[in-house]
Amino acid sequence: MFAICSKGCYNGRRRRRREAEEVDIWKKLAILSDAAKYDAACTSSGASRRGTGGLGNAVSCGICHSFAADGRCIALLKVLMSNACVGDCRYCQSRCSADGPRATFTPEELAELTISFYRRNYIEGLFLSSAIVRSPDYTMELMIDALARLRHEHGFHGYIHAKAIPGASPALVERLGLLADRLSVNIELPSEASLRRLAPHKTKASILAPMAQIRDRAVQGERELALYRGAPRFAPAGQSTQMIVGASPETDAQILRLTQGLYRKYRLRRVFYSAYIPVGDARALPVKAPPLLREHRLYQADWLLRFYGFTAEEILDGAEPMLDPRLDPKCAWALRHPERFPVDVNRAPLEEILRIPGVGVRTARRIVSARREAPLTFEGLKKLGAVTRRAQFFAACAGGVQPGLRAGREAVCSQLTAACRVPGLTGGEQLSLFDQRPQLLLGGI
Ligand code: SF4
Repeated sequence: MFAICSKGCYNGRRRRRREAEEVDIWKKLAILSDAAKYDAACTSSGASRRGTGGLGNAVSCGICHSFAADGRCIALLKVLMSNACVGDCRYCQSRCSADGPRATFTPEELAELTISFYRRNYIEGLFLSSAIVRSPDYTMELMIDALARLRHEHGFHGYIHAKAIPGASPALVERLGLLADRLSVNIELPSEASLRRLAPHKTKASILAPMAQIRDRAVQGERELALYRGAPRFAPAGQSTQMIVGASPETDAQILRLTQGLYRKYRLRRVFYSAYIPVGDARALPVKAPPLLREHRLYQADWLLRFYGFTAEEILDGAEPMLDPRLDPKCAWALRHPERFPVDVNRAPLEEILRIPGVGVRTARRIVSARREAPLTFEGLKKLGAVTRRAQFFAACAGGVQPGLRAGREAVCSQLTAACRVPGLTGGEQLSLFDQRPQLLLGGI
């Protein structure tokens, strides 16, 4: 027992122990936030949890997103519960055979840290993943304990994205889904063969089973909500997954076909692509990281799958298994299909207008609505938000076609290449919470 003196201050031993614990938490945070930076799957879009008298509010407009230059979200406290893994995935920095400091938060530590960061306005929510401590079930129990403390003890209503651990029991996935806004299960690698080679303790079945459970439970939750407004909400922001690109030999065509299958079969909100970073077992992996531009082009192709009505087989086929680094995938597809252009923006249906490079989903809808009033010209297209330096080669408006349409394929290609260049995506690095560069500091922690 430690005594408290008559003036109300703590005695020396207790104060020293508390200070030591605080230093310990900061050390753990440094280790576990650094280990979490390799996880790309975190955005807080789509959450609709409202604050009801406690702390935080995850309705879309209440969440501030902050994205690093390479596209990763840094608005959430992104941290691992533990990096002391029993697994040995070759590409992973937390694998049991790797050197490096290990740490594990207790549920109380993690809940208090999140709340203290939230109160200081450093973060809007939490992204919680974990290495496998002892077993998938034990790890999930630690995570559930931490989230339950946040939700029930601290009254935290902010956004929480949690990773379900493959191999954990379905009852624990259920409990995690009732606490988190979004769940994700990492698919990790694009094929079962690569999984066997680089992540021998994981199987396709152990990854897909929780995905299917989350999908089915979400459907059931929607039905329950339709009957009873107060029904508990299971992962209301849906599920996502992450795939490592470049650690194994699969082509972009294979990756996109897998992505398409995941969207169709498991109702995923997002598939995140993470360009492999050489932190793993060098004997089993490529020495060099793939260019971030590959990851960027995959995201663009993913967008075409989800919002533009493309199929994976249209974007890439067996003859061209890799996305063209010089052109965005929509321009590349349009150049391969000159017979589909020019598209008359004053007559074509929405689906065809969506295929014009330089015309986004919102602009396409505006076009369909605006053309009811008067025929559209290129000037009009520009005002509606089209990127005419790309659209000019593929669209026909009132007043004829632009001179660009009469240029040869090579000339169009070189002009589009200049228009599609993505500055700053040739290099880049993962961010660290403790990075010393001023632009990366989170509110001067
Ligand atoms: S299970 Fe594999 S990927 Fe996950 S933390 Fe452990 S070694 Fe890394």
